[in-house]
Amino acid sequence: MHNFLIKEATIYNGSGEKPFVGSVAIKDGLISGVFKEEDNLPEAKHIVDAKGLALTPGFIDTHASTGFGYFFPHAADHKLYQGITTEIFGNCGTSPAPINERLVPTMEKLAKDLEFTFNWRTLREYFQLLEKIGIQFNVATLTGHSTLRGGALQDWNKVSESEHNLMERSMEESMLEGSLGLSTGLIYAPGCFAETDEIVELAKIAQKHGGVYASHMRDERDKLEEAIEETLTIGEQAGINVLVSHLKSAEKRNYGKIPAVLKRLEEYNKSHAQQAKIDVYPYTAVSTKLRAFIPKRFLEGGLEEVKHRLDKPEVEEEIANYIVDKNYDMSQMLIISNEYPEWEGKTVQQISNEFGWTLSGTMCEILKRDTEMWIVYHCIDQADIDVAITWENAMICTDSWSHPINAPKRIGVPHPRSYGAFTEYLYQYVFQKKMLTFEEAIRKVTSMPAEYFNIKHRGKIEVGYKADAVLFNMEKIKPMATYTDPCELSKGVEHLWVNGEQMIENGLINDATPGEVIRNTAN
Ligand SMILES: [Zn+2]
Repeated sequence: MHNFLIKEATIYNGSGEKPFVGSVAIKDGLISGVFKEEDNLPEAKHIVDAKGLALTPGFIDTHASTGFGYFFPHAADHKLYQGITTEIFGNCGTSPAPINERLVPTMEKLAKDLEFTFNWRTLREYFQLLEKIGIQFNVATLTGHSTLRGGALQDWNKVSESEHNLMERSMEESMLEGSLGLSTGLIYAPGCFAETDEIVELAKIAQKHGGVYASHMRDERDKLEEAIEETLTIGEQAGINVLVSHLKSAEKRNYGKIPAVLKRLEEYNKSHAQQAKIDVYPYTAVSTKLRAFIPKRFLEGGLEEVKHRLDKPEVEEEIANYIVDKNYDMSQMLIISNEYPEWEGKTVQQISNEFGWTLSGTMCEILKRDTEMWIVYHCIDQADIDVAITWENAMICTDSWSHPINAPKRIGVPHPRSYGAFTEYLYQYVFQKKMLTFEEAIRKVTSMPAEYFNIKHRGKIEVGYKADAVLFNMEKIKPMATYTDPCELSKGVEHLWVNGEQMIENGLINDATPGEVIRNTAN
């Protein structure tokens, strides 16, 4: 007897082929039957009438940030309601393992701040912990380059031979314990201090074990093209498949660069066995802290010191020059805050006009009150995003941190992509702009990432595949999260299964934790 029989669904099997009406059986965590005829259907404990609903494989989010959200209940609700049943974390150079000695104090502080128990060092131990706690959906990880550096290096600018060897050993060990590859975050410390050669050596180890190289590149603005070349050089020298993370070309003067970038990747792909792909989120704004837009040295020391420093006219003047030099557009920078209603939902430009402050003075005033102030900054061209999303080698990502959503203490306000990237993608590109067919849109978030990351038996509705499946009401698919109200769950998922267990039934989520840790099996 099968556990479930999903009857008369419109089946989009993940391959990109046209849909067909049929029934799907689930048994022991696997898809146990796909039936095109309605006669002689097998018996099942639960029958789901799926007439008029679209059945797809569960989505794979190629880009999540950290792995600390899983310690809190319902950490994945916001993703399950987008149809995501698997996420790959450890991106942008930071992963929860391996933790070498020098990183222990940082991890201890983080654990204290977020209120989770930190008691692992290796990826094996971390994965075992997740399996013990129980997770809502499937997870896999990359190994973060900054995590390796942070754990091994005394001086981030100088790598001794023994420190380099430690990083290599840890990389190798992580690959053997199930990592899917190497990630870098080359705008963040300590990853940003690394030479290309160091990354090539680590990427070679990932390649040896069937892994990929995913990079938040050194530059997503004026030097985007150079950053792409570095990524491709690493791919070529290590002989590894590369993934450009959350591809974007930020700031107005860089608008329109993406078509040429994609053309460069296509040329590269034509002449190399290893392939370059991208992931991208369907939004024109980034979400970060206001303090990212002033020189870092003004923020050193305690809050009192920062306040005192930002009061000085020469500092205000330097910030004024800095924003002109960087070409930041303050009319596109929106303050997100519940604590300061006088600023909430206004741009820095608007606040400056309203209070009669200069732009740099406005930034100083805000930062003196709250150095942690979150902003949303519209700095990406819609046409660039459209070209990127519809590119044949593009996958979709949330690029989201899950821990601020469920941790007892919130860390800022999430970007709406956390709750809505995949529904926004379907809503905008399939239904509104009609740039993608539903079957092609589904392929880009199911079989394509599964094949790219070498995740076996997921990403398709096929007999013998893991039963990660979603029943959508296509007419109801809609993102609800907005920049000012980002924690709204998406609409459209009626039923959802993870490893054959039903997690969402008639739009309601339960407390089950059927998720599995997905380990690299190429070893
Ligand atoms: Zn990133």
